[in-house]
Amino acid sequence: MKRRHRPPNVHPAIWLVSGLKETANGCLEWQRGRTSAGYGQMTWVSGEGTRYTHRLAWEMAKGPIPPGQCVLHSCDNPPCCTPEHLFLGSKAENTADMVEKGRLRVDAAHDAWRSRAACKHGHIYTEATTKWTPGGARVCLVCRRQYDRRRRPPKKVPMPAGAENYG
Ligand SMILES: [Zn+2]
Ligand SMILES: [Zn+2]
Repeated sequence: MKRRHRPPNVHPAIWLVSGLKETANGCLEWQRGRTSAGYGQMTWVSGEGTRYTHRLAWEMAKGPIPPGQCVLHSCDNPPCCTPEHLFLGSKAENTADMVEKGRLRVDAAHDAWRSRAACKHGHIYTEATTKWTPGGARVCLVCRRQYDRRRRPPKKVPMPAGAENYG
């Protein structure tokens, strides 16, 4: 098991480097502990709080971070500590960057969803089985027909004459 706390006699730079793993994209990802947002977090020394590993990596590679500046990821990979993937920005730029990337991801997912070949039940969308809504979404008519059939109320069977007397 990997130690999560840096031993007091180990230099933070050594501890940082020893906790990184390189991905195919050249991201050096921190392995030892992450925040809920995915950022690498180093437990400084037990009892002394924590530091973001990408900020530490920036400081070690390029020097102090000016007050009020954020260290942002060009690779959009929060645990990444590769100095070449990091750049400085304001908090507003950080937010704008996150919104922009989030929006692009949502758009891409939406495009993929809209251009998918089949409905969630696996019916291939063809001209005959597709209905477009005014909003530009597709409705699978195969599913729609099955749904309608299930919703049709069962036929009422008339009671035979005199049946009420047998109860
Ligand atoms: Zn990276
Ligand atoms: Zn369907």
